[in-house]
Amino acid sequence: MKPFNLLRRLLQVATVLLFMMQHQLIIYNIPIIVGSLVSSKVLNIIGFVDPTAAIEKLLAYKQPIVFPTIAFLTTLVLYLVLGRVFCGWICPLDIFYSYFRNLRRSRSSSHSRIVYFSLKFYIPMFVVIFGMSIFAYIPIYTNYLNVITMFSVIINLLSQIFSPTIAIPAKIEYAIIVILLTFILDIIVSTVYPRFWCRRICITGILYGTFNKLSLLTLKINDKLCTFCGRCDEVCRTSIPIISKYIKMGKDSIRDIDCIKCFECIEVCPTNALSLSFTSLRTYKKFSLNPIYSDDFFFIYRFFRRSLQLNS
Ligand code: SF4
Ligand code: SF4
Repeated sequence: MKPFNLLRRLLQVATVLLFMMQHQLIIYNIPIIVGSLVSSKVLNIIGFVDPTAAIEKLLAYKQPIVFPTIAFLTTLVLYLVLGRVFCGWICPLDIFYSYFRNLRRSRSSSHSRIVYFSLKFYIPMFVVIFGMSIFAYIPIYTNYLNVITMFSVIINLLSQIFSPTIAIPAKIEYAIIVILLTFILDIIVSTVYPRFWCRRICITGILYGTFNKLSLLTLKINDKLCTFCGRCDEVCRTSIPIISKYIKMGKDSIRDIDCIKCFECIEVCPTNALSLSFTSLRTYKKFSLNPIYSDDFFFIYRFFRRSLQLNS
């Protein structure tokens, strides 16, 4: 196992174990991480919250909630610096995707369909989900549809191995069904569209993915060193066509909403054409002023420009 991959697995497993043992650790006054994958507090100081969950709760409960508001801002700052790291380094679903991907015979077929859903798909989806929460007074997506919440329910159940006094969550059967349905959907669709839930349906992942457009941590390209061997394309966990979409297009970095920052493309590149980089503030300023940075960002730019023209 390559170093980044090993580190990712260790962090994913450690996160689950720490959540499982949180009640025991509190008893011994060692609150390393308390809460769940959706909302947590590290060392009793820094709060993090899934932005979708925070927005939904505000809309559903219709009153400011102090902890999620502060945690929301902390999360924004973290992802503005690192980008979509949650999906590659924390989310347990990534373990399933990795093993399932290894079972598939042909990896090259993963690049056969790269479809980016447009805002025409996502805007109605957000309106429906948030609209349901407003009218039902319940954060419906977070409580009933988000697979990350369901993993948290399972982790909570497993924590009873360490703390038998904690009540078994009532939603356990429901959580297992949602997780299994997500797995089944992905297994069925994966022959034409790998990692479907993660890349196109999971609202949490999509929101985190948009931070890749702005994050300081990025994957730098030196196209002069590239021999077009194709190894980066082959290993990419989220089937990004790195060569055709970024290297051949003369881009200087990979800023893709699908990138989960696993860094495996960097590890396999034999010529160091790909590397980790923190965007300097000077470059960042130039980038921020230039919305025509990538196809996805350009699409958002055109969409809002057209809306403004229609309204004027
Ligand atoms: S692995 Fe490196 S050398 Fe090979 S195509 Fe990708 S960037 Fe180019
Ligand atoms: S582009 Fe590189 S870092 Fe991003 S998901 Fe693909 S392999 Fe991982």
